[in-house]
Amino acid sequence: MAAVSLRPRREPRLIRIDANKTLAVLVDATNVTVKLHYCTEPEIRSFIRCNGANCVACRTGKSVQERILIPVYLPASREMGTLSVETTRRPGALGPQLIWLQAKRKTSMAAISIHALKYKVEALKWDDEDEHFQAKVHDFRAHVTAGRVDLRRLYPKVDNDRLAKVPEFVRTLAILEGSDGGDSD
Ligand SMILES: [Zn+2]
Repeated sequence: MAAVSLRPRREPRLIRIDANKTLAVLVDATNVTVKLHYCTEPEIRSFIRCNGANCVACRTGKSVQERILIPVYLPASREMGTLSVETTRRPGALGPQLIWLQAKRKTSMAAISIHALKYKVEALKWDDEDEHFQAKVHDFRAHVTAGRVDLRRLYPKVDNDRLAKVPEFVRTLAILEGSDGGDSD
């Protein structure tokens, strides 16, 4: 099985938050949720999307991580980006803070950073008449509406028949389900 390929895509790239402040304008509630598995197996070594019913990764006992994908405008680079936040409500989690801010006002800017595993979100003023902002958001919305952009595609999808050929999965399924690793058709 070939390694998971990362093809070029239109989806705004995933933004990594660190100790430096990242300025991000929350556009509006065009968030989507996605269910992921983190796979350390050498053939995959990345997050992949859960295949739902009969998902081979689920059958091997991989935990499911649900993420909310939030599109944002990045005023520093004047491009769109995507924040991938956990659904957890633990103190200092990013998701609830952003969703609260998103709900409060139609458009708002956040300065986001992380310190000692706690996210800090400062609400800042943003001029939503900004022409670069308007153009990027307009294009993004048009792509989403036309089905050309789906934020979930930021994470690769590996079909069940390919997953069923990953040697570690084959062996795990043989132990758990007493089979030869499941059907590959
Ligand atoms: Zn799954």
